[in-house]
Formats: sequence, C-alpha cells, structure tokens
Amino acid sequence: MNAAAEVDVVVIGGGATGAGVLRDLAMRGLRATLVERGDFASGTSGRYHGLLHSGARYVESDPLSARHCIAENAVLRRIAPATIEPTGGYFVATPDDPDDYVERFPAACVAAGIEAAPVPLDELFRAEPLLSREIRAAYRVPDASLEPWELVDANLASAREHGADAHRYTAVIGFERAPDGAVTAVRVRDERRGEERAIACRAVVSAAGAWAGKVAGLAGARLEMSPGKGSMLILNRRMTAAVVNRLAPPGDGDILVPVHTVCILGTTDITVPDPDEVHVTRDEVEALLADGERLVPGIGDARVLRAYAGTRPLYDDPDHEGKHPDESREISRAHHVIDHGPRDGVGGFWSIVGGKLTTYRLMARDVADAVAVSLGVDAPCRTAEEALPAPATGTPYWLGDRLAAHEQEGGGDAELICECELVTRRRLAHALDGRGDSSLDDLRRTTRLGMGPCQGAFCTPRAAAMVDARHPGTANPPLRGFLDERFRGTRPIAWGDQLTELWLAAGIFRGTLAVAGLADRADAEHAAG
Ligand SMILES: Cc1cc2nc3c(=O)[nH]c(=O)nc-3n(C[C@H](O)[C@H](O)[C@H](O)COP(=O)(O)OP(=O)(O)OC[C@H]3O[C@@H](n4cnc5c(N)ncnc54)[C@H](O)[C@@H]3O)c2cc1C
Repeated sequence: MNAAAEVDVVVIGGGATGAGVLRDLAMRGLRATLVERGDFASGTSGRYHGLLHSGARYVESDPLSARHCIAENAVLRRIAPATIEPTGGYFVATPDDPDDYVERFPAACVAAGIEAAPVPLDELFRAEPLLSREIRAAYRVPDASLEPWELVDANLASAREHGADAHRYTAVIGFERAPDGAVTAVRVRDERRGEERAIACRAVVSAAGAWAGKVAGLAGARLEMSPGKGSMLILNRRMTAAVVNRLAPPGDGDILVPVHTVCILGTTDITVPDPDEVHVTRDEVEALLADGERLVPGIGDARVLRAYAGTRPLYDDPDHEGKHPDESREISRAHHVIDHGPRDGVGGFWSIVGGKLTTYRLMARDVADAVAVSLGVDAPCRTAEEALPAPATGTPYWLGDRLAAHEQEGGGDAELICECELVTRRRLAHALDGRGDSSLDDLRRTTRLGMGPCQGAFCTPRAAAMVDARHPGTANPPLRGFLDERFRGTRPIAWGDQLTELWLAAGIFRGTLAVAGLADRADAEHAAG
C-alpha cells in the first residue's frame, strides 16, 4: 500500500452511500476524502421516489432486502429524525392484485420482522378519502417519507466534524497503480476549472451507484452493472396523507409518496445501457397515470408538475448461483461489497453496489468494515449509535414547519422568494453563504426553490437577482441553466392545465424578460471588444 499517501481512503460518489461511507471511515479515525463529479446527491439519491421503506415491498421478491430495510428504517428514525416525515404507509389490494399474493403478504411480513396491521376499510377511507372504493384489503406498515438532500448533507457535515473532506464537481478520470496492481492514487478533474490532479491514497471505495461499472473500468477492474431507469411523476398536491403501495409484486405506478407539499407517483423500471439515460418518455407518463388510477381514481386529471427519472444501481452478481434475471425488477435490491483485489488484481479498491437509499448506512458500514480491516484499523462502526448533526437531528419533519417559522418572523409576502415552497430571502441567503459557488439548481436541492406548483415561474428571477447582487453580472448563465433544467422535466407532461402553466412561464421568461436573448458576461465583454 502507498506509504506516502495524502489520505487513507478516497471515496468516489457523493450520493447517500458515498456520504455514509465517508462518515463511517472518518468516525473510525481514518483520513478520508470524497469526490463527486456533480453536486452532492445529484445522482440517483436526488432522483428517487422519496420513500423510507419498511421493507414490506420486498417481503416476497427479496426477503434479504426487506430485512435490511426494516432494520435501517428504525436506525434512521433514531439518528436523523428531522429528515423523515413519519407519514406511515398502507399496502392496499385493488381488484387487479393477485389473491394468493394478498393472502401470503401478512405471513411474509411477520417472517421479515415487519409489523403489518390489517386496517378496516372504513377507517382507511376516512384517513385517505381519495383512494379507490374498489380497494378490498389494507395493511398499515411503517413506511415514511425521507428527504435525501438533508440526509446527505448531514452525513457530510458529520464526516467533516471528524476530519474528512468532500469535494463536489470533482470527477474521477483515472487511477495510478503500483506494479503489483494496487491503487496508489486517484486522478481527478475539477469540472468547473478544468484542472487535473492526483490524490495519493492507501485505498479507494467506489460508491458511484449506477456508474460503478464505469469507475471500475477506469481502474482496470470488471464490474457489470445493470442500470434500471425508473421514471416518476410529481403531482401538484398531496393526494394521500400516507405512503400508499399496491398489495402486489413490485410493478409500475404502484406507489404514491407524499413529499413536502406534493406527491410522487412511480415508478417504471427499464434496463438502460447508460446510467445517464434519464429521459422520460410520453408513453411512460401515460402508463404511470393509468396505473395510478387503480389507487386514486381521477389521478389522470390531476396537474402533473414534472416528470423525472433516476437509475437504480443494480448489480447482477455473476458469481450468484441459479437463475439470472431477464428483467431489471427481478434483480435483488440487496447490496454487495466487492473487493477488486482478489477478483481483478486491483488491490486496495472496493465497490459498494446495489441496495436502497433506506439501507445506505448499512452499505457504508459493510464496506467500511472491509476497508478498515485491510488498513489495520480495528475501530468499530458507530454510525447507528451517534445521531447525525443538526438540522437532521431534532424532531421529525412536519409539513407546517416552514409556515410556522415564517409566521414567527412576522409572515407576509415581502420576504418570500419562493411562495410555493416558502423559501424566504433569509433561507436563500443562508444557502448562498454556505455554498457560494452553487448554481440555482444546486440551491434548489438545499432549499426546494422552484420545486412547487409554479415550477420556478415566479421565484427564478428573484433568486437570480440575489445571485447578481452578490456577484454583479454573473446571474444570466445560472438563470438560463435553471430554466433549462425546469423545462426538461415539464416537457413530457405538457398538456391540459400544465400546458397552460407552461405557456404562462414561457410568456414571463421569453416575452417579458427576453431570457433567450440574455448574454452572459463573457459574451457581453466579447461584443464590447
Ligand atoms: C426510480 C427510483 C426510485 C427509487 N426509490 C427509492 C425509494 O423510494 N426508497 C429507497 O430507499 N430507495 C429508492 N431507490 C434506490 C435509491 O435511490 C438508490 O439505491 C440510492 O439513491 C443510491 O445511492 P448511491 O449513493 O449508491 O448512488 P448515487 O446517489 O447515484 O451516487 C453515486 C454518485 O457517484 C457520482 N459519480 C459517478 N461517476 C463519478 C466519477 N467518475 N467521479 C466522481 N463521481 C462520480 C454520481 O454523480 C453520483 O452522484 C430508487 C431508485 C430509483 C432509480
């Protein structure tokens, strides 16, 4: 191993898993640094369904994953309560769901250690009046809604408290290896400045999710990932108070998750050759809405705010004996720690793949255990016992939190930058102070700017003005970038009321603000000679 290393471990990937690995290693006293090619949690962790799984979804298809989910569900409620809205969840049987599955479900939950209590239908419909009256059975499970960005930030903050550091917009572009094949350094590129450098290290953990195969390839290792694209729709309000799942084997459009002020219907599952392939098709949108009708009749008439997709970091283990699945949905959601030393002759290099966001901490523990042993460190994992730092600690999330805080400060519209998500001038300024080099899209992740019903139509110019006040002449490119990203997610759902809303937004930006013609400073300076 590399004696002159700058750090003990380089962690690749700033999603939930990488952030969890960084925290775990740092808490064991290892010097660790994390590199992420984009913003933190901009990969699958920022493009998922928002569900803290009870595990009940996997009791039949994937019992190991179900047991992991229920165990970690309890741990996360303890260490990061403020990132969780304890909505509870239901599994409901529609007339289309198979009788034998419905009959086996309670016993399968018991076997996995998941509490699933039958719910009388009159009670269900009182609590969830929009659900289909054709539902014929229901069980309550400890599902919840989980905020990914705060969770990732809290893990990174904790890691920093323990001496680690994390760099975003820093992509891994290659590896340096010793004659025996062991990794001695990771080559990275600053994606904004174009500068390249090497980080000398004793070990590397790739937590690159669906991109883990590509990263392993850069190190000369072999890792066949099977990225599964899942598309989701954001509806303009909460249709249900709790998470609602179909009581059937996992399928499309069978889960509705209330998330902050909206709800998310999903997902599809399509194997894609490239994990960056997150384009949502019109067919997927129509199929999701048709499936959603079975849960909430009339959901197809609701206003869809946006469509988006993420790619599952699925790994079809070639060493696994038995049938290899043809379908993405049949691949296990359990995680795998892969030591590329004995496997591929690339010593000091591990990949952690598979899993769920719900199980990120367990995944981090398992790979950190292996790395710590190899580096001669016997400190145990403490991430399940020590709570994450504020704001992830505190009380569980409550939908009225922001309104209550705003009213305590006097309320009113004057200080609101984003009315839909109640982002105040102070909250945005705080985010800009903490991450001054952020794009507006990065700020969206930390504040929810532009994520509500108007999808940025009114808040974007105000936020751009705040950026410009700090750095005069710099706001046009981030403004255009933010609008491009917002429009990307509204294009596949441009019909009905949403189309009217899009025309309004286009009128504001193109007609009133002439955004298409705005030059950035470099253009303006060039034009001025
Ligand atoms: C549609 C969908 C819905 C889902 N719903 C749920 C759910 O409701 N609940 C749940 O628990 N799980 C859910 N999952 C699964 C869960 O989202 C993922 O398992 C989890 O987010 C993966 O986290 P990660 O940190 O491993 O990967 P990621 O979050 O993808 O992080 C990997 C990071 O590596 C970075 N990276 C890639 N290449 C490089 C490089 N060369 N250099 C530097 N960085 C690099 C990427 O930019 C990325 O940010 C869902 C997944 C999908 C696709």
